[in-house]
Amino acid sequence: MKQEKKSRLVYSTESGQLCPECQHQIAHCICKEKQKAQIIGDGQVRISRETKGRKGKGVTLISGLSLNEKELKTLAKQLKQRCGTGGAVKKGVIEIQGDQRDILFQELQTLGYQPKRSGG
Ligand SMILES: [Zn+2]
Repeated sequence: MKQEKKSRLVYSTESGQLCPECQHQIAHCICKEKQKAQIIGDGQVRISRETKGRKGKGVTLISGLSLNEKELKTLAKQLKQRCGTGGAVKKGVIEIQGDQRDILFQELQTLGYQPKRSGG
């Protein structure tokens, strides 16, 4: 098959093919989650903190958002501004620097999510 140069297919040298829909690695594809979330109504958004291997207060993670990469980045930007800190989107999870759980919890509720805290 030499004609598989479809522009939407992206390959990663590290671990193979990326999902053309969500741009995640196939193993971490969030499309299924997204579909599941749509069936339930909305995704279960979880806010957790990770300090392992992180400097200082670690990062606050928001997972379970049924958004595509672009929407996640938009939301991440908004949340970063809200917290006045940095952050990133990795594998469908928004990372916000520092312990921002209280602010993010409120902010997500304001946006219509029903976040749950998980972990410490
Ligand atoms: Zn996908």
